[in-house]
Amino acid sequence: MTEHEQRRQTVAQGLAGHKIDVLLVSSPSNIRYLSGYSGSNGLMFVSAGESHFFTDPRYRLAVSDMPGCAVHVVKGPLIPAASALLKRKKLKKIGIESSWISYQDYIRLKDSLPLGSSLQPVTGLVEALRMVKSLEEIGLIRKSVQVNSAAYSLTLKHVKAGMQEQEIAAELDYQMRKLGAEKPAFDTIVAAGANSALPHAHPSAHRLIENELLLTDMGASLNGYSSDMTRVAYLGKPARRVRALYRAVLEAQLSAVDAVRSGIEAGKVDRAARSVLKKHGLEREFVHSTGHGLGLEIHEPPRIGRKEKTRLQAGMVITIEPGAYIDGFCGVRIEDTVLVTESGCEVLTPTSKELVSL
Ligand code: ZN
Ligand code: ZN
Repeated sequence: MTEHEQRRQTVAQGLAGHKIDVLLVSSPSNIRYLSGYSGSNGLMFVSAGESHFFTDPRYRLAVSDMPGCAVHVVKGPLIPAASALLKRKKLKKIGIESSWISYQDYIRLKDSLPLGSSLQPVTGLVEALRMVKSLEEIGLIRKSVQVNSAAYSLTLKHVKAGMQEQEIAAELDYQMRKLGAEKPAFDTIVAAGANSALPHAHPSAHRLIENELLLTDMGASLNGYSSDMTRVAYLGKPARRVRALYRAVLEAQLSAVDAVRSGIEAGKVDRAARSVLKKHGLEREFVHSTGHGLGLEIHEPPRIGRKEKTRLQAGMVITIEPGAYIDGFCGVRIEDTVLVTESGCEVLTPTSKELVSL
């Protein structure tokens, strides 16, 4: 049995718990997880003992090999074809991914179902399975992390005063693609000086000057799997205030990494970072959560936030990325991609966390 077949079997086993006969899967990442299909137009349903996949003729070749799953190539919208088959199979309690199905598809589906059928909103069923990665997935994330870090080091060698943030971002994207990434996992963030105080800054035409901090947050998408890293460099010799801020964030990051292990509540990991920043008087400057799961998507469960009760499990891949942002001055964030293990964790990101002077 292939890994995709096993995953569909696990989904099928979980249907009864949600009081549904079948799950209609609309999320592109969930479809990819359950079938390997990565095109733009796909729909599938999974029930006990059978799975069906629907797409349009552009993807006929791409879906010719989907063991254990019936493939239907249809012209026009996919929902009517899926709905007709659900009717024929007498699958009546239909789970829909309420965060992913479009309103138009929902109405089409609702209007086409016979009496006695019902649509049951379901959230996070496949996402819950995706949290714990298989060995194969961990291998793919490792590759993504390596490419990402290599693109950063190659680019950093050429960074100097006078370069624009957007120029550096373009170089990072170019290097990661050259090293095999399909694309950046999200819009690369390059923020210099005061711009770095915005946690989600967009690279601008601003040109780097001496004595400026440079924050880079980047990730690669490779074979569909994401990586995520934030590093800070400095043009020149960092002033004492910058060094102190950096040290505080690094201490928080290391403390959170240290807390990661199988069985711990995600909230505890967040609080490990938060309490260090509090000690340094920076708790108000830490305006986001400590991290997030990643895999087929750049942000996926579990969330590593203050009140999260989810317990980490070996095989989860998460980020640890505390930061502190001082308006009008600068911001520091340090982010690694981390694999949760039984006894602790493995920091997958190989890039040094020293404050580099350029
Ligand atoms: Zn990031
Ligand atoms: Zn992140």
